[in-house]
Amino acid sequence: MKRRQSETNGESKRTRFDTRPDPTLYLDTINRNVLDFDYEKVCSVSLSDTNIYGCLVCNKYFRGRSMDSECFLHSINEDHHVFVSFDTLNFYILPENYQLDEQTASSLKDIRTLINPTYTDLVAVYQDATPKYDLNGRKYIPGFVGLNNFGVNDYANVILQCLAHVEPLRDFLLLNPSKLHKTNLAAKLSLLVRKMYSPNLFKAHISSHELIQYISTLTNKKFSLNHQSEPRDFLVWLLNALDKELTTELQTPLMSSIFQGKLRTQAGKSKFWMITLKLPPVTLFKDGARLEVPQIALEDLIKGTNYNIIKYPQILTLYIHRRDDSKKIAGVHGSNINPTIVKFNPSQLVVGGQKYELLANIVFTAGKDENYSMDESDQTHYKVQIRDSLRDQWLEMNDLKVEPIEKDLLFLNQTYLQVWGKMH
Ligand SMILES: [Zn+2]
Repeated sequence: MKRRQSETNGESKRTRFDTRPDPTLYLDTINRNVLDFDYEKVCSVSLSDTNIYGCLVCNKYFRGRSMDSECFLHSINEDHHVFVSFDTLNFYILPENYQLDEQTASSLKDIRTLINPTYTDLVAVYQDATPKYDLNGRKYIPGFVGLNNFGVNDYANVILQCLAHVEPLRDFLLLNPSKLHKTNLAAKLSLLVRKMYSPNLFKAHISSHELIQYISTLTNKKFSLNHQSEPRDFLVWLLNALDKELTTELQTPLMSSIFQGKLRTQAGKSKFWMITLKLPPVTLFKDGARLEVPQIALEDLIKGTNYNIIKYPQILTLYIHRRDDSKKIAGVHGSNINPTIVKFNPSQLVVGGQKYELLANIVFTAGKDENYSMDESDQTHYKVQIRDSLRDQWLEMNDLKVEPIEKDLLFLNQTYLQVWGKMH
């Protein structure tokens, strides 16, 4: 139809039709295997953070499309031609500088989905137990994808993995990206969690780079990719910051309704995000010979505290204080980590008449990890074990590695922080 029109409509129109650049010309130069869009959206040359485009050939980001822009120069210098705008998700060909029509762009729908996965219902999250495959045929389970460690950001990744499995928070973040446009932190967390659950990943792992870079700026580098922090401190900061943002911008008390409990102190009532449990002091060597790691039941540890809890939260977070900087504990590589094993039953914890089940367990290893090459000798490394209720299994996520783990062996690790969900 279109063609006949241009044939009958005279010379000028036909000429324009014929010389129009072929929109598919460069599409086969797109290299999906390198694409992830997980990095902070800043120009890799100018560090500008506005009007940023992603190169679909090399996965690098650049500013602008004008003739003096970094993006334009990249297309000339590197002979890369297909770009996506992170503001509009439109595709552009440079240096010719034209936008791909929607029909052509629809063949790149998978790239738009990779940049911004969305969900209209959560049926797949709750019911689809089949594994998915990345572009290299690597199997992965949506919701249980490894997160890149740039050196020391495992402290943040384990917390993000935990939060992605707190159902009411997860469902809110998956379903409401458009509601979150007024927010920054929640919007970026939403994007990360939406990627974690995507059945359409190009690579079987993702990266929290964009979110952590944002937090690093927000906290004046208190939490960053470049130096280690305590996961507990990161979680408390994150819960407070999300609570503040969601109550201010969206008038929703979502965070406090999920995570906050109340306790009575001498000064009156106060709210808490988590309960700190102190381990009894240990002497590791018995008779100077045999190494004996003490054990204590989690219930006993909780009873030993003198918190007067008047409201137990929907999600109960327990932090086990293992670090003892006052004196070195003999035996474990001169470490100051209390190695006491805390025994617990992941299926049930009864406190204050409430029944909880374990959702996530953060553990740590002191000293050098085989997968971990840092210069500091007393480096701490965190990994997280998470319940996969859909497939009735536990999975341990250690940076990029995701492996099943026996539920009955969870307690053998040096538990650092636990997330328990109230049973209905
Ligand atoms: Zn490029």
